[in-house]
Amino acid sequence: MEKRTTKAYDAVVIGAGNGGLTAAIRILQGGFSCLVLEKHNLPGGFATSFRRGRFEFEASLHELNDFGSPAEPGEIRELFRSLGAEDKVEWLRIPEAYHLITTDKK
Ligand SMILES: Cc1cc2nc3c(=O)[nH]c(=O)nc-3n(C[C@H](O)[C@H](O)[C@H](O)COP(=O)(O)OP(=O)(O)OC[C@H]3O[C@@H](n4cnc5c(N)ncnc54)[C@H](O)[C@@H]3O)c2cc1C
Repeated sequence: MEKRTTKAYDAVVIGAGNGGLTAAIRILQGGFSCLVLEKHNLPGGFATSFRRGRFEFEASLHELNDFGSPAEPGEIRELFRSLGAEDKVEWLRIPEAYHLITTDKK
């Protein structure tokens, strides 16, 4: 459905995927107004899920690395924290999905 606006915005973000939504929040946190334009009927981009009957399918993004703990946050947790979204998601650890091999003794 086409919706027209004559309102002026400080910034226009094209695409409501993770990148566009993060940019939009940053713009709003900076005290500016922002219009987000999304061509799909849902926000989220590759992070969108869809439902068939009683099942919900995540088509792409499943896991995030470097989340850490509240006491030792990784970069992703710090990003969500700075966006005010850290506590809006139920986070589950999946240690068996991640195996790191390094020659770094630390
Ligand atoms: C199969 C798969 C599995 C993945 N698994 C993981 C994972 O486990 N962990 C992880 O961290 N990452 C994963 N990723 C990567 C992650 O999903 C993406 O890097 C991230 O979601 C991309 O976000 P984005 O905002 O850059 O782009 P996108 O999600 O592509 O968002 C772009 C948005 O812009 C919209 N758009 C495009 N052109 C226009 C236009 N002209 N006008 C209006 N709107 C427009 C699109 O509809 C879309 O909503 C996976 C990706 C895939 C494909």
